[in-house]
Order: sequence, then structure tokens, then C-alpha cells
Amino acid sequence: MIENIEAIKNTKSKISMHGQHHRLADVHEQLEILEHNNTNDFVLPPFQQKLQQSGLYPLKPTGIEIFQVNLGKMCNQTCKHCHVDAGPDRKEIMTQETMLQCIEVLTKNPSLKTIDLTGGAPEMNPDFRWFVEEIKILNKHIIVRCNLTIILANKKYFDLPEFYKQNNIEVVCSLPFYTKDRTDRQRGNHVFEKSIEALKMLNDIGYGKEETVRNCIQPFIYHHQHTYQQIPGVFAHQW
Ligand code: SF4
Repeated sequence: MIENIEAIKNTKSKISMHGQHHRLADVHEQLEILEHNNTNDFVLPPFQQKLQQSGLYPLKPTGIEIFQVNLGKMCNQTCKHCHVDAGPDRKEIMTQETMLQCIEVLTKNPSLKTIDLTGGAPEMNPDFRWFVEEIKILNKHIIVRCNLTIILANKKYFDLPEFYKQNNIEVVCSLPFYTKDRTDRQRGNHVFEKSIEALKMLNDIGYGKEETVRNCIQPFIYHHQHTYQQIPGVFAHQW
């Protein structure tokens, strides 16, 4: 199954599975596989069973610490591991009307102190910067999940590092691996070198030096910390 997905994305590397009308892009098909293990390719224990084994069933809410907002499926990349099947061909993005509803929720709930913006590439939503500035008026801490290459994808994004810094945004960057070969196989040609270039742009403006650029792959950092820190200009913060 996983090899099958890789083959699909390799043949049409800039088109999401949704754009290729693949059956695995259908949410009902995904649920069928997850809930009924309807595949011969690998064995998935039911989610409920894993919760029971961990003593967590039934799951109960304990409160909301972080308000995460997905601004849409549009992205400049089509990574093989993408769990939202994002890509340049995906046009489903959050409207400003929905963002206003989010602002209303945040205004009414002062206990929500951290807002986590994700996507796709959240920066590709045309109302991204407006939304950030509206949230800042409420004096909230903002996290942006940045895929790094978006900063270099178009000149209209070149100033994103300045925008992040001006708004005191915590930037959580993703880079799947510390070698070009494995990163490019997962995310696309030249993604590794563009990611390093974008990291250096963030470093130049102060990110990393002030411990605000993080890599959230803790086991990877733990096992490969020495090698990773040899990449010039890259800062890695262990969670
Ligand atoms: S950068 Fe993130 S959102 Fe975009 S395709 Fe890759 S995993 Fe998905």
C-alpha cells in the first residue's frame, strides 16, 4: 500500500491524490481501511484497541490548551507522507468569514492563549497575514507550521521571515531528514537545498539564535544530533 502511494505520487509528482481521483483520497475509503483493516498489505490494530491497551479508552476531553486552525489544503509541495493530501492543485481553503468566526471564539475564550496555524501551507491562504494580525490584536501566542520551501516559492513570500518576526510568531519548521537524497525522495526534487536556504534566511533574521526555530522530530534529533548540527547555519531545538 505505501509503495503504491509512492508510485502514484512519483508519476504525477505535483498533483495530489485527490487530483488524480485515486480511491485512497476518499475519506470513506480511508475510514474503511482504518476501522475494518480492509487491506492485505499491512495490519492495523483498531484505534479503540490501542486506546484500551494504553488505558485511555474512552477518550475524554480535559480542556483546550491550543486552538489549531487548518487554513486549507493548498500547498506548494506534494509530500508522499502528507496526511491531508495537500498540493498546488488543492483549492479548498478557509474563507475570511470562517476566520472571523475563529476570532469570535478566541475573543470569547481568553483561556485559549496559543493559536496554531497549519495547512497545507497556511501562508498560501490569501487572508493568512490579515488573520495573523487580527489574532495578534487579541494578544495571543501564534505558532505557524512552515514547510520552509514556501519562503522561496514565489517573490510574494520572500518577506515571510520578516513577517514572522514582526508578529513574534513561533515558527515550527518541517524537514524530514538530514540528507538531500531522503528528503527529496519524500518531498520532491530540490526541497532539501531550498529548505536549508530558507532556514538560513530565518537564522539571519534571528530565528534559531533566539531559540524560536524548532524541529519537532525528537527521536531523529536525539539520534542524529551531531550530524544535523554540522549543516551550516541550521539550528535545531530539541523539544
Ligand atoms: S509540506 Fe506539509 S502540507 Fe504540504 S504536502 Fe508536505 S506534508 Fe503536506
